[in-house]
Amino acid sequence: MKNKIILITLFLTLCLSGCRTVPIRDVSGMPDSAGPQTMPESAGTAPNIFRQDVVHEVGPGETVWRISKMYDIPMEDIVRVNNLSDAAQLEKGQRLIIPNAAPMRSIIPLYPNDMWKYIIIHHSATDMGNALSFDYMHSHKRLWKGLGYHFVIDNGTGETTDGHIEVSPRWLHQEYGAHCKADGMNYKAIGICLVGNFNDEKVSCAQMDSLVYLVGILKKYYNIPDSHILGHGQVDGAKTDCPGKNFPWLEFRSRQQ
Ligand SMILES: [Zn+2]
Repeated sequence: MKNKIILITLFLTLCLSGCRTVPIRDVSGMPDSAGPQTMPESAGTAPNIFRQDVVHEVGPGETVWRISKMYDIPMEDIVRVNNLSDAAQLEKGQRLIIPNAAPMRSIIPLYPNDMWKYIIIHHSATDMGNALSFDYMHSHKRLWKGLGYHFVIDNGTGETTDGHIEVSPRWLHQEYGAHCKADGMNYKAIGICLVGNFNDEKVSCAQMDSLVYLVGILKKYYNIPDSHILGHGQVDGAKTDCPGKNFPWLEFRSRQQ
């Protein structure tokens, strides 16, 4: 049984000539609740990258620590520039100035847990959105306990970054999902949602790169066989075309290793 919590850092790259594997860097560390003191030096500043001041809208479950890792800057800088009195108390939707930010990267924590036997892929069936907007919708319109998925992969609409992997509070707390009732999947499956309506649109190159990468990491860590990686509509008893008829299953399956 693994007992070490791992953090995975995914650097997003521009897809200029077709999909390709994104460069990655694995770093050992602890989840948000453990605080920054556990983050190793190796996760520090990446060289030769363009930095600029940006505005970040706080997503569900995001902490100053997590945001500081996403933009590769010290927590203290975020606290100081935004005059935060209590760095632990961020509000969903709050807008923060991130000084001297590196391009945003995805930080994916992996927790030892025997619960996860399947991975279910969804689309949002909306043109736009992100973890924050789906969290609001799931809380207020469906009356769920917040965002139902474990991960959301953005499509670059609105203020989002194409291919960015947002980590849901359900994943940070290792809670069951609210994304697929059929076959009891909510209690045994990791739910990943790609933003977009893939009955009309295509999965973006950056989204597919991130999905392939994320699924690859998860299935390896949790020993999930390819036969247990399904689209929502492929689950026994599910009556849906999610993740949409344009979802590129051939490409996705061929890129699984
Ligand atoms: Zn679905």
